[in-house]
Amino acid sequence: MQDRIYKTEAVVLRRYDFGEAGKQLVIYTPRLGKRSVLAKGVKRTTSRLAGHLEPLALASIVAARGRNLDTVTQASTVESFSRLRNDGDRVFHGLMVAELLDKLTPEQEENQALWTVFTETLRRLDTQQDPWTPTTYFQVRAIALSGYRPELEACVQCEGRLDARAVYYSPRLGGALCPEHRLADAGSFEVSANAIKVLRAAVGPSYEAFRRVRVPASLRAEIDRILRLNLRTLLEVEVSSAALIDHLTRQPVR
Ligand SMILES: [Zn+2]
Repeated sequence: MQDRIYKTEAVVLRRYDFGEAGKQLVIYTPRLGKRSVLAKGVKRTTSRLAGHLEPLALASIVAARGRNLDTVTQASTVESFSRLRNDGDRVFHGLMVAELLDKLTPEQEENQALWTVFTETLRRLDTQQDPWTPTTYFQVRAIALSGYRPELEACVQCEGRLDARAVYYSPRLGGALCPEHRLADAGSFEVSANAIKVLRAAVGPSYEAFRRVRVPASLRAEIDRILRLNLRTLLEVEVSSAALIDHLTRQPVR
């Protein structure tokens, strides 16, 4: 039988008002996956929970299982990621990462690898100067770790070798296409061999290996476009965060 009380690390992905002084939180955890919990009275300044359940911060919480929702009884900040949460551009990227995780994951499904890359991404956004590299790595890894690893080594249709001179990408089929099979998806489009190389590095387990790949601005724009189209196809859901909407709807760069 499950214990009624449990302790876990958690990051608040989003939260909304609940009752007069409480909040309902959607949290992500290493062992319990995504979960909805209640934080009663958290808006009162006297609450011991106040300040420890901020979005994009890493907290340690104790919660009691309830019939519908669990209730947080204790919370303490483990890592506040204060630079990330106080800088507009970093916040924007952090919220996009959190919403993407939220959209890609079902409730209560453990995915420790996803937890690890998520918290590492928050740490990187907090400490590193350039948000593009950690955010891009997260997007590709999160897609792969959610079961949609893109095929980047061979044609997703015929498994034939890719010819660097003409490579296409299909968001719907989730991978590269050879010229012969580009019409397997009417939504496929041509991509550069360099973009495929960058995506291959991003899908791997080493962030440092990805970080070492040089990605000039024009190639960044191409990668952004591929990921945007891929995510739009994958999610096909209403997207609410301004950050993610902006990311998904920005005009393709040519
Ligand atoms: Zn093919």
